[in-house]
Amino acid sequence: MHEQTDLERWHHAVNTRDAAYDGRFIVALVSTGIYCRPVCPSRLARPENRRFFATAVDAAAAGFRACRRCRPELCPGEAPVDAVPRLAKHVAARISAGALDRGSLRELASTMGMSERHVRRAVERELGASPKRLAVAQRLRRATALLADPRRTVTQVAYTSGFQSLRRFNAAFRAQFAMSPTAWRRRSSRG
Ligand SMILES: [Zn+2]
Repeated sequence: MHEQTDLERWHHAVNTRDAAYDGRFIVALVSTGIYCRPVCPSRLARPENRRFFATAVDAAAAGFRACRRCRPELCPGEAPVDAVPRLAKHVAARISAGALDRGSLRELASTMGMSERHVRRAVERELGASPKRLAVAQRLRRATALLADPRRTVTQVAYTSGFQSLRRFNAAFRAQFAMSPTAWRRRSSRG
């Protein structure tokens, strides 16, 4: 059986103005230089004039302007384009201050009146890493500083730096530095 490619699905969604795809991709029209939501009520562009983007930000970055009828920059789950970098910076600062060590991303997002998904996407788009990865990187920075103090055990370092378990600490540490925290401490005490 023929399996539909994403491209075929997207063209079909545009042709039928399928609301199920609203917010899932952006269609830009090379003939007009404008980008739209799949549900845009404007006249349909020919398939060969369509370009597809994951988000309104991507379409804008490629030089397309937002359609005034369907307002793709405001489409469901998306904030106005220029608000995204600001939001990402704000979230990164909160994570840096330990927001994800004490609570979940959902809780952090709700304090800003936003969905978890929206916050995650904004951070990934602007900073190239998920909120979770930012939080782990932050904990590892703290951990490497704490390991320099020989009076602390590795277990103390794990919990003090914000990890929920020694196992997670060891796994994250190895993934980042390709050695155990103990080996790191030995090496840095020599150096
Ligand atoms: Zn439109």
